[in-house]
Amino acid sequence: MNSTIPIIEIDPSAGFCSGVNRAIRFAEENLQYLDSLSCIGNLVHNEAELKRLKSLGMNFIEHEDIGPETKNVFIRAHGEPPETYKKLESSENHIVDATCPVVLRLQRKVKESSRIFHENGKGKVIIFGKPGHPEIIGLLGQTYGNAILVKNIDEAHQLDFSLPMAIFAQTTANEDEYNLLCRFISEQSFLKTGSHGNVEIFQSICRQMSQRVPTLRGFAKSHDIIIFVSGSESSNGKYLAGISREINPRTYVVKDITEIGDWFQITDRIGISGATSTPLWLMQSVADYIKSSFEQKQ
Ligand code: SF4
Repeated sequence: MNSTIPIIEIDPSAGFCSGVNRAIRFAEENLQYLDSLSCIGNLVHNEAELKRLKSLGMNFIEHEDIGPETKNVFIRAHGEPPETYKKLESSENHIVDATCPVVLRLQRKVKESSRIFHENGKGKVIIFGKPGHPEIIGLLGQTYGNAILVKNIDEAHQLDFSLPMAIFAQTTANEDEYNLLCRFISEQSFLKTGSHGNVEIFQSICRQMSQRVPTLRGFAKSHDIIIFVSGSESSNGKYLAGISREINPRTYVVKDITEIGDWFQITDRIGISGATSTPLWLMQSVADYIKSSFEQKQ
């Protein structure tokens, strides 16, 4: 090994989750034989990967662009509410549905709880997540007008704790915050009703996400500096970069090699990590760039 090049390692747990990998694979396969393919919203929150998909022929559209002329429409891993499917079917679009199976299962459970409360005439579905996030829009779309979106524990103070409740989290939500929220609602419900049976809690955070946090903590601890590669719009990227920074204050977030600064020392053990929307090829390009910048100094 050349002693003037620092150790540079890519976090083995970083990169696309299985849901995003599957969606990208669907997109690549379909782009080979469809004459056009339009994705509603960004397929991943990563500018470099979007550019690569555009170069393969993918168009990116918004809901209002759906019409007979869009012809083939791609639904990304986050999923969509039923209204989107209706709109696509009524304009006779061919649907390439890459909704993540984990998200699909969650949509079905949310729908089932909401249906039961609707038929019983009381009860609320509580969804913990980020307002406006596409997965949340898809989840709220499954319900019968009896769901409440809660973005933090402060908002939970407004709930009517006398009602039965079913609590769900966005698959990429912060697990610690979700557990606190569930405990708070359960306690308040018990105080109000005297029963522990009024609140049902669903552990709906994706295991790939919840396992990612302890692995990243270990990776951040075992390296002197972390270069965290993430698109600027990725909420998962912001969350994971924050976890890395808590453990290792020398955590720098970059979208690609153009944002890399003069942050390294020859003795550093350098770790490259990324969000669930960061492609492996992009983290590899960052590792190669850092390595070549040291080689050029020799
Ligand atoms: S984070 Fe989990 S639920 Fe979300 S797309 Fe990836 S695999 Fe699916």
